[in-house]
Amino acid sequence: MKVAVVGMGVAGAYLLNRLSSEHQAEGFEMKAEKNWYTVCAWGTSEPFISDLVRQAGFRFEDYVLHRGKKMVVDLGDEQLEINLRGLVTYDKHRLTHDMLEGKKVHWGEQVKAVNGNFEGFDLVVDATGLHRSLLPKLSEDLVVPSLEYQVKSKELPYDDFVIRPYPGLTGYWWYFPLGDGTAHVGAGDLKGRYRLELDEFVKKYNCEVVRKIGRPVRVTPPRLCEPFFDGKVVGVGESIGTVFPMLGEGIIPSMQCVNLFVEHLGDPEGYRRAVLEKFAVYGKVYEFIKAKVEDRFSLLRMWPTLLSIFWYMRSNERRYGLETRLTDFYKIATRL
Ligand SMILES: Cc1cc2nc3c(=O)[nH]c(=O)nc-3n(C[C@H](O)[C@H](O)[C@H](O)COP(=O)(O)OP(=O)(O)OC[C@H]3O[C@@H](n4cnc5c(N)ncnc54)[C@H](O)[C@@H]3O)c2cc1C
Repeated sequence: MKVAVVGMGVAGAYLLNRLSSEHQAEGFEMKAEKNWYTVCAWGTSEPFISDLVRQAGFRFEDYVLHRGKKMVVDLGDEQLEINLRGLVTYDKHRLTHDMLEGKKVHWGEQVKAVNGNFEGFDLVVDATGLHRSLLPKLSEDLVVPSLEYQVKSKELPYDDFVIRPYPGLTGYWWYFPLGDGTAHVGAGDLKGRYRLELDEFVKKYNCEVVRKIGRPVRVTPPRLCEPFFDGKVVGVGESIGTVFPMLGEGIIPSMQCVNLFVEHLGDPEGYRRAVLEKFAVYGKVYEFIKAKVEDRFSLLRMWPTLLSIFWYMRSNERRYGLETRLTDFYKIATRL
C-alpha cells in the first residue's frame, strides 16, 4: 500500500515508523523543517509510553528530562499532593525529529485538499491535529486556547510538577520541570485568562523566555469527531479527538490511535469501531467538563459519571503516571 501521511506531529511521525516495510509511506508537513516545532508541555507517563516508543525502535529513557515524584494541585484554599507513578517530561521535539530521520518528508507543503493531488497513493492520512485539514468540519468542536513559555532561570520556584485548575474547570495553569534550570510554564483556559499570569511569573522569577508557543487543544472526544474517513482520507490522532479532555493529554492517545490504524489497515469499519471503543470514556469526561463549564453541573445527577471516570483513572494509574485518590478526585471535581 502507498500511504501519504499529512502532518508531522507525534501521530504522523509515529505512524511513519509503525507501518511495516511492505508499505510505502511519505510525510507532508506544512512547516519548513527549520520552523517546525512540537507545541506541547512534554509531559507523559514513562512506564506506559516506553512500550509504545519501543515498538517504533526507540528507547524512551534516552529522551527523559525530569522524573516527577509529587505533583502539587493548587486549589487556592488547599494544596493537594499527588504521588506520581511515572509522570515525566521528555524531549518530545528531539524524539519526534529522530522518528523522521531517514523518512521521506515533504517539508513546507500545506495540504488543503486531496482532489487530484495524491494520485498513486492508496490512502491519505489526516494527522494534522487541531487543523483537521482534510476531513469534514465538525459541527460540535470544543477547543481550549493555550499558551506556553519555555523558561530558563536560576530562581525557578518549584522542583516538581505543579498545576492550578481554573474555577469552573475551564482549564489549568501548569509548571512542568524540564531539568537544568528550565521549565514549561503554561496554561490552557476556555476563558483565556492566562497571559498576565505567565508574564508575572517570568518577571517574578527573572526568567529568560526561550520560546513562546501556543495553540488550542481539541477536547472533543472521538465519538463527536466522526467521520474519521472521507474518500481515501483517514484521520488519526488529535484530528479525530484523541485527547483526554480532563488533562488536555494527547501524546499517548495519539500513538494508541496510530496503532489501531495499523492493526486495522484495509478495514476502515474495524478501525472506526476500535477507536470508538478505546476512547469511549473520553465522551464521559467531555460531558462532565461541558457541564462544569456551562454551569449546569449537578453532583447528584453526575455522580455515576464521576464515579466511572474515577474508576477508569484509578485502574489506569500506570497509564496516567499518577496516583488517583477518591478524596482528591472529589475535591477537584466539586470544589472548583
Ligand atoms: C500547549 C500544549 C501543551 C500540551 N501538553 C501536553 C502534554 O504535556 N502531554 C500530552 O500528552 N499532551 C499535551 N498536549 C496535547 C498534545 O500535544 C497533542 O494532543 C498531540 O501533539 C496531538 O498530536 P497530533 O500528531 O495528532 O497533532 P499535532 O502534534 O498538532 O501535529 C499536527 C502536525 O500537522 C501539521 N499540519 C497541520 N495542518 C497541516 C496541513 N494542512 N498540511 C500539512 N501539515 C499540516 C502541523 O504543523 C503539525 O506539525 C498539549 C497541547 C498543547 C497545545
